[in-house]
Amino acid sequence: MTQTIETQLLVIGGGPGGYIAGIRAGQLGVKTIVVEGVNPGGTCLNIGCIPSKALIHAAEEFAKTAAFAAGTSPLGITVQAPALDIAKTVEWKAGIVKKLTSGVSALLKKNGAQLVKGWATIVDGKTVDVAGAGEDGGNLRIKCEHLLLATGSEPVELPFLPFGGKVISSTEALSPTALPKHLIVVGGGYIGLELGTVYRKLGCEVTVVEAQDRILPAYDNELTKPVATHLQKSGVKVLVKHSVLGLTDGGALRVRDPDGTELTLDADQILVAVGRRPKTDGFNLESLGLDLAGKAIKIDDQCRTSMRNVWAIGDVAGEPMLAHRAMAQGELVAEIVSGKKRHFMPAAIPAVCFTDPEVVVVGLSPDEAKAQGIEIKTSMFPFAANGRAMSLESTDGFVRVVARAGDHRILGWQAVGVQVSELSIAFVQSIEMGATLEDIAGTIHPHPTLGEAVQEAALRALGHALHI
Ligand code: FAD
Ligand code: NAD
Repeated sequence: MTQTIETQLLVIGGGPGGYIAGIRAGQLGVKTIVVEGVNPGGTCLNIGCIPSKALIHAAEEFAKTAAFAAGTSPLGITVQAPALDIAKTVEWKAGIVKKLTSGVSALLKKNGAQLVKGWATIVDGKTVDVAGAGEDGGNLRIKCEHLLLATGSEPVELPFLPFGGKVISSTEALSPTALPKHLIVVGGGYIGLELGTVYRKLGCEVTVVEAQDRILPAYDNELTKPVATHLQKSGVKVLVKHSVLGLTDGGALRVRDPDGTELTLDADQILVAVGRRPKTDGFNLESLGLDLAGKAIKIDDQCRTSMRNVWAIGDVAGEPMLAHRAMAQGELVAEIVSGKKRHFMPAAIPAVCFTDPEVVVVGLSPDEAKAQGIEIKTSMFPFAANGRAMSLESTDGFVRVVARAGDHRILGWQAVGVQVSELSIAFVQSIEMGATLEDIAGTIHPHPTLGEAVQEAALRALGHALHI
């Protein structure tokens, strides 16, 4: 039997976009239902940001202890060789995920938003069915005034290298039952490098196969160089300009090198991480006939789709596929639905790649600014001249600032180095608040911190750096 209920806002998908929309709408008194097919928290909390960062930390700790055991540390610390119980590591990671996902359910409840577990199928722009979610276990039909699509994304599958068996996606790579002797990573982007580094630090042989001429091709060469150097030093083999062709009958990976010669690479597992695509299939979205931009749902600066009162946020609405962008859009749509006037016009959306060392990009790079015809002042400050970086045994990398030449207004920051993910907040705040080089140069930065490199980069752009 079909049970029918009504709500003001119906959100499909309980990831960072959808759950934040639910919480904020609840706070504003908008009657809201969030439908989630798997687990609240979405890709980010369950199989993305959080579990990957947990494993990055575990691998870092293991590698550090292994270095102490090898007697290569200059700190005078020696220990016995470490052993790894991977099942326990994965259990620890799962504990963090569980804490956070149950926290999301509790926050939705606390704010008065209802969470319905099940798969939503669109009937029309104001009606959604959730099979099995009715009180008697039958169909639940939800009628709404506003429909918010927050269905996220899924990994791109290569047709000649489908997922299954030894070919895995990030989801399987985040929950290993045993470690492979040799892992091949197809794709030297965010996921490939974050997880490839994890597996290498845990002692696996790792080969990265990247189609472009360098890793992290979305970033500039200067910025990614320290990451490439570190991968090489740590023993990760990186094959750039190599195209993947498929598997041999024996299960080896067939690749073509830049000269056109075909090679085969043996591996116990092959992680394919060649991008993610918006999840627009399998829930009758096509029946709405929304305007698309490629696979993504087309939205305006209020996250409105081409159909009145149908909204889309996060990965399903295209790039950049980042959790904080999805959250900001979720909050915005909830506020608009409640009657507030809002537009999605961030001055910049920070991007952080949690490689070793970490990479941060906020706003315009020097090349991007020049391509827009902007005359710029740019300078970088190396961590080699920063005391805190030395005390952390990590002097690779730098902070770079990009400012408009005329008025010194900051347009962009880039950084690569230890723990620079935490500097991204200062970067984006300065851009959002319209800071100039003088504002940053004139702010007292605490000593000794990595953040002093931020001030020094601004000082250097003004021609009077103090520590270089
Ligand atoms: P999702 O988080 O994908 O959530 C969508 C939800 O909708 C899912 O839970 C899904 O089950 C549900 N759903 C879909 N269809 C239906 C339906 N028909 N009915 C009911 N429910 C449905 N981003 C960062 O910013 N920082 C990082 O460090 C980072 N690391 C990542 C690491 C990995 C390995 C991966 C894969 C991604 C990472 N990302 C990271 C990207 C980040 O996870 C996504 O940008 C973010 O989760 C997008 O949020 P969303 O709400 O749009 O979608
Ligand atoms: P990506 O776009 O970051 O990288 C994909 C890489 O694969 C690129 O370097 C591309 O040139 C390469 N590639 C494409 N086709 C190939 C082929 N046939 N053979 C070899 N290489 C090929 O994608 P991803 O690493 O899968 O991550 C997906 C998205 O998830 C990211 O774009 C990002 O939005 C999000 N993410 C973010 C973080 C973070 O914020 N720290 C971490 C993980 C994922």
